Amino acid sequence: MKNRITNKAPLVNQLDIHTALLNWYDANARALSWRVPPRDSKMGVKPDPYRVWLSEIMLQQTGVKVVEPYFQKFVRKWPKINDLHRATETEVLAAWSGLGYYSRARNLKACAEIVCTKYRGNFPQDESLLLKLPGIGKYTSAAMLTIAFGIPATVVDGNVERIVARLFYLQDSLEKLKPQIYKHVSSFSPKIRPGDFAQAMMDLGATVCKPKNPLCTKCAIQNFCKACDKGNPTMLPKKAKKKIRILRKGYVYIGITKTEKIMMLVRPNKGLLGGMICPPSSEWEPNNFPANRPPFAGSWTMLNQTVKHTFTHFDLELKVMFSYISNVPENYVAKKLDQSLITSTPKVMRKAILEAVNYVKSNIV
Ligand code: SF4
Repeated sequence: MKNRITNKAPLVNQLDIHTALLNWYDANARALSWRVPPRDSKMGVKPDPYRVWLSEIMLQQTGVKVVEPYFQKFVRKWPKINDLHRATETEVLAAWSGLGYYSRARNLKACAEIVCTKYRGNFPQDESLLLKLPGIGKYTSAAMLTIAFGIPATVVDGNVERIVARLFYLQDSLEKLKPQIYKHVSSFSPKIRPGDFAQAMMDLGATVCKPKNPLCTKCAIQNFCKACDKGNPTMLPKKAKKKIRILRKGYVYIGITKTEKIMMLVRPNKGLLGGMICPPSSEWEPNNFPANRPPFAGSWTMLNQTVKHTFTHFDLELKVMFSYISNVPENYVAKKLDQSLITSTPKVMRKAILEAVNYVKSNIV
């Protein structure tokens, strides 16, 4: 007869789940740059808290595949937290470019500053102190405690939520279930190998208990799973009704000198793309284009192609205005329009710059 986990899981089933999941993880853990593989972890190799922290900040709102090359670039450039502390915010933002949610990069720099000056380069091993650091919330502090320091804590990300909703057959919408899921996870998170267990849950969610096609027949905890038993795991977790997405519209102004320098300015720290060096743009208004008021004098042309970009909470449509200019306007910096500038510019603005570059090329020919 199958063991069945209930909402009040008997201890024996919890232990069975730990064993099944850790055995599976030992053989199937994903090889990730920031991770100590289970074989080494069992031999006592400890993770580098700096690498765990850096990866967790990058993984907030971004998938593993996208994060990998950025993580490798960061640790090559700044192998230790002290190296990152010595970097300027502009350098960190430029290296972060393309990863999105730029407040994470600014928090990274601010957090490195505090850890290096207040804690001599060592992250505190205490939830309340971790939570005071910029960019570290409940999830990241729990992940750091368990993965970096082996201190049991409740680690719940999207993958874990999905597994738990299916395992216990929790039928409310995910929004309503969050506190219940958190309770379940804290009741069955183990004291032995807590970091490996947390990572095993993440890996199971990413590679087996996938949102659309869960591989139940290959799942290490299939025997305990109520949703699998009922035959409809993909129905869970139930999602809240989709909100209607807002479409914002605006203009971006690309002013270029004959010597191929582009006019850029630093965006305010607060708000989207905060602190990044970008070409100027208008406000981004919902549904309708705002007034087209170039920020400095020029002979402006509207390019044919409109730049489209998707942010988490809205879609953006930008009309690209182009002008050659001869003098650098007040408050602007003239940046050499080369590959390094393009790659260090946020994606949405990169698209606009490339439109202007194509326009210039096609008019030269
Ligand atoms: Fe997910 Fe299927 Fe495993 Fe249940 S048995 S946890 S639904 S993969």
